[in-house]
Amino acid sequence: MAISCLILGSGPAGYTAAIYAGRAGLNPVVYEGLQPGGQLTITTEIENFPGFPEGIDANELMDGMRKQAERFGAEIRTATAVKADLSKAPYKVWFDDGTEAECQTLIIATGAKAKYLGLDDEVKYQGMGVSACATCDGFFYRKKTVAVVGGGDTACEEATYLASLAQKVYLIVRKPFLRASKAMQERVMQNPKIEVLFETNTVGLYGEGGVEGAHVVYRKGEADEKAYDLPIDGFFLAIGHKPSSDLFKEWVKTDELGYIQTEGDSPRTGIPGVYAAGDVADPHYRQAICAAASGCKAAMEAEKYLQSL
Ligand code: NDP
Repeated sequence: MAISCLILGSGPAGYTAAIYAGRAGLNPVVYEGLQPGGQLTITTEIENFPGFPEGIDANELMDGMRKQAERFGAEIRTATAVKADLSKAPYKVWFDDGTEAECQTLIIATGAKAKYLGLDDEVKYQGMGVSACATCDGFFYRKKTVAVVGGGDTACEEATYLASLAQKVYLIVRKPFLRASKAMQERVMQNPKIEVLFETNTVGLYGEGGVEGAHVVYRKGEADEKAYDLPIDGFFLAIGHKPSSDLFKEWVKTDELGYIQTEGDSPRTGIPGVYAAGDVADPHYRQAICAAASGCKAAMEAEKYLQSL
């Protein structure tokens, strides 16, 4: 028998959808995916999720959401979707453990992944000085020195935001120019706390028990190549995000970066009973609270759709 509400993803969007769908009696089934708990679980403390005046550990927050979803009857399964057929209801999804599921409604809450440079040290210092979210972790670097990698709008925005907290921000840019919009470039260039290091690549990080600096190379491969160590307390990646939407591109509309495009500010994808919630459909805000809100909307839409059948 088809699952009435299948939810892919276990970040704030997926779990919030499961809480609402569970309370509405839809017996939701949640597939956790590759990163149970979602992107938040790679940060440490969350200080901007309302209701926790002292902040809350990210894993504790996600664990709470999971238990809340289970309390209302959500079944949580551990597998990752590898293929989908959304050509007609009931919709079909195949998983990496060889199983498949049919569903009447589908909530795609598969999130997005921040891109990393691919250095072993980024893994080693994850949550110990390495972050891909200035809004989430910038607060911990008040009056400290940080570096932001990237030359696009996100990097400029994050560098500007961090400069409001930190005492010094290095913007590490691999090209001799910024790719960001003119306005963002000007904001960065005019900020006395931001120093742009053009034509510079990061090749490693160092530090005892946390980031204390980055090994960088200026004009790698050129005659005037120069390798040096840059003392920093925090290393922020801002080289783009990749929404986890590949499986669904054949069926739903996505923008040029792969974010699922929904109808207006609703989570409706245009396919009856199929919704997208959270970062997979949000190129702009990418915040847990926004993801949770869209998960709520998706579950309410699913409930309304099922009632109309
Ligand atoms: P972009 O793809 O625009 O920029 C990515 C940046 O990271 C580029 O400078 C790129 O360098 C650099 N980069 C990529 N890979 C590496 C690497 N391996 N090593 C070093 N540097 C690397 O991504 P954004 O997230 O900045 O922006 C995504 C979209 O969102 C854009 O369209 C942007 O305009 C938009 N946006 C708009 C905002 C606003 O309007 N307020 C705010 C934030 C984003 P290179 O240039 O050499 O390729």
